Amino acid sequence: MVLASSSVGAVLVAVALAVAGCGDPSSSEGQTTRISRTPVDRAVPGGPVTRVLAVSIDGLRASAITQLGRAGTPTLHRLMAQGASTLNARTEREMTVTLPNHTGMVTGRRIAASQGGHGVSWNDDRRRPPTVQRAAGHDVSSVFRVVHDANRGTALFASKTKFSLFERSWDVGIDSYRMRFDNARLARMTQRDLLRHNRGFTFLHLSGPDDAGHARGWNSPAYLAAVRATDRRLGRIVRTINGHPRLKQHLALLVTADHGGSGKGHSDATRLVDFRVPFVVWGPTVARGAGLYALNPDYANPGHRRTTYADARQPVRNGDVANLALDLLGLGAVPGSEHDRAQDLDWN
Ligand SMILES: [Zn+2]
Repeated sequence: MVLASSSVGAVLVAVALAVAGCGDPSSSEGQTTRISRTPVDRAVPGGPVTRVLAVSIDGLRASAITQLGRAGTPTLHRLMAQGASTLNARTEREMTVTLPNHTGMVTGRRIAASQGGHGVSWNDDRRRPPTVQRAAGHDVSSVFRVVHDANRGTALFASKTKFSLFERSWDVGIDSYRMRFDNARLARMTQRDLLRHNRGFTFLHLSGPDDAGHARGWNSPAYLAAVRATDRRLGRIVRTINGHPRLKQHLALLVTADHGGSGKGHSDATRLVDFRVPFVVWGPTVARGAGLYALNPDYANPGHRRTTYADARQPVRNGDVANLALDLLGLGAVPGSEHDRAQDLDWN
């Protein structure tokens, strides 16, 4: 059999990606450390990041990615092979439900208002308190407001109605808010928006896995099918980014989840399956195939532990989204925030 040299190259690249990708989280961290330290990967190509897209996959437990493997979640695997990631990030400590964790992602705060948190401890459409600020009892800023104040556009695409809390709380900071239950449609809207507008920060929430988990169980075929479908939606967005140099060269992508789940729920904040989530950083200047814990000795891989906010070395948290996004954009931290407040979570 004769292979054209380009085919051989493609095969070698595929093998290299397979080696760099994830399997067991701890072993992949080990493998990827070596890769991320090589000079060629240090000299990461790409201009300055001027745009960030944060994608939260509702109810995506980290083990679903390893369980489905590269065949079932090719996009997530590609992002991990080409970016910096961990499958052992943490949610907020207090609660493993949607609205409190997403509020943490956009404010960089813990939940408990009595300890400087954002105070959003409910997970429904209630209108009292009407805003995050009223829940906290004081002003609470967000990544939306900071980016908007830097004269960069922002957008929020959500697939649950309770996200209207964010629009009420940061009505000036969020330039465009769209809610659609239909995840496919919402992802397409986000794609179009990325092309039509030059926004500094875009947040996309996809509910598919959580919807299926509640209906059929977190380990059901329906749940795994929803994770696969979400990976395909993410794949179309990544292809859009790759197909447009102005996105490819200037947009960083963050992917995480609000919580995992087991059985038909996810509200037990003491359970590993609920509080362990993935966290992926991908884009220009991001180390290829790196483990976030290997890149960040100031942070500690918590193993199977549930962590506290008092730990000297914090885990990577989904609540790092706000300040990591701002750091990527060259903007300072969200005032009053806690997670990655020093903006010392490195991506290369
Ligand atoms: Zn849920």
